[in-house]
Amino acid sequence: MDGPLSNAQTRDVEALLHPYTNAVQHRKVGPHVIERGEGVYVFDDSGKRYIEGMAGLWCAGLGFGDSELIDAAKEQMGKLPYYHLFGGKSFEPAIELAEKIKELAPMPVSKVIYQSSGSEANDTQVKLAWYYNNARGKPEKKKIISRVRGYHGVTIVSGSLTGLPYNHKRFDLPVDRILHTGTPHFWREGRDGETEAEFSARLAAELDEMIIREGPDTVAAFIAEPVMGAGGVLVPPADYFPAIQAVLERHDVLCIDDEVICGFGRTGNWFGAETFGMKPTSISMAKQLTAAYAPLSAVAINQDMADAIEAQSGEVGTFGHGFTYGGHPLGCAVGVKTIEIYQRRDIVGHVRRMAPIFRAKLDALAAHPLVGEARASGLMGGLELSPDPAKKAAFCEPGKVGAYAADELLKRGVISRAIGDTLAFCPPMVITEAEIEELFAPVEGALDAAHAWAK
Ligand code: PLP
Repeated sequence: MDGPLSNAQTRDVEALLHPYTNAVQHRKVGPHVIERGEGVYVFDDSGKRYIEGMAGLWCAGLGFGDSELIDAAKEQMGKLPYYHLFGGKSFEPAIELAEKIKELAPMPVSKVIYQSSGSEANDTQVKLAWYYNNARGKPEKKKIISRVRGYHGVTIVSGSLTGLPYNHKRFDLPVDRILHTGTPHFWREGRDGETEAEFSARLAAELDEMIIREGPDTVAAFIAEPVMGAGGVLVPPADYFPAIQAVLERHDVLCIDDEVICGFGRTGNWFGAETFGMKPTSISMAKQLTAAYAPLSAVAINQDMADAIEAQSGEVGTFGHGFTYGGHPLGCAVGVKTIEIYQRRDIVGHVRRMAPIFRAKLDALAAHPLVGEARASGLMGGLELSPDPAKKAAFCEPGKVGAYAADELLKRGVISRAIGDTLAFCPPMVITEAEIEELFAPVEGALDAAHAWAK
């Protein structure tokens, strides 16, 4: 990645605007071109092999090149490469996948509605909450509460739900009716002498105050990821969601569970809600729903919402929502095969078996002088870097040391992700013990290099 840009890099720089990339810097350094993948590895166009420690974007749960998934996709492409669900049309993979979701969901699900991305799923969630509250005669009950550092996507509404500054800055977001409450990150946000239980109770009390201040009749829903992924792999204390649930129930506020990362085994249960005691009224799913082999997302809703929405669609004359590619046959067929594989190969059990090994690797690195906190849930984890871990200090220029450490790791053949100064790891769920060893082997060296550079 040093030296003059290659032909592919030059063409990229001239033709593409990259997501989550500094475009000015990109023009100088060019892209890192990835050519192919195999198991937990990807290979770049120079032939160099990397262990994909982020499963792409927290999504390639079965790794790369799974022949069963490829065959399922080919078969569906040959049979029915496109169809839709508008106007009452249907096709078998869409029906079968919705049945599978109903069977596995951590709440009684009545109906499933498809989209293509996590952002569209969360946009749909907000529209459904509004539609539902209109249906039940509560037209003022429309505000949605999300959390600082939550990540829910980038469309106008899902980007507003996201609680990260760079998703709002100069995009004129958030839009109105979207509010943000506190982050359940005990290590950074907990007060001196406060226990995790007291911290959770304080956050629940803040939420309660916010709802009362806004007026419970104006608040429709609360949205949360069980573990905050793109906010920095923030694992909530055990008491957090039970305390939050009590507030939501008291004020008749829906609980939207964003399982886009945590869903389908990532935290060691089928859904993160089970790991953390969340009681959702609706769920967003994407990413590992298809092991990322095809774009697909889904929203699952409870009986109460489904009944109200169905009845209102009758009054209006149609349910006026849906995307051309929502529930694309390719995504649904791949989704059905993905879930069958998760079940047959006991991927959730595998995550549970690998999680202590993964966690031990992170915990061992917690002693490094650059590491403030090591955190993990299932097979997702993070190392929060700090210039003075004992004081939980933050770097004066946030993000620089994290990016440097991730670059050092990349040079050593590991793809991680720097989220500010947290180094995130979320490998394919099929990762073996030997591959976990390989993933973490170069981390200490990369941290040493970053530590020396930061001084
Ligand atoms: N929700 C969560 C929890 C996510 O992590 C993401 C993406 O990383 C999204 C929603 C948005 O998904 P997409 O990028 O498919 O729009």
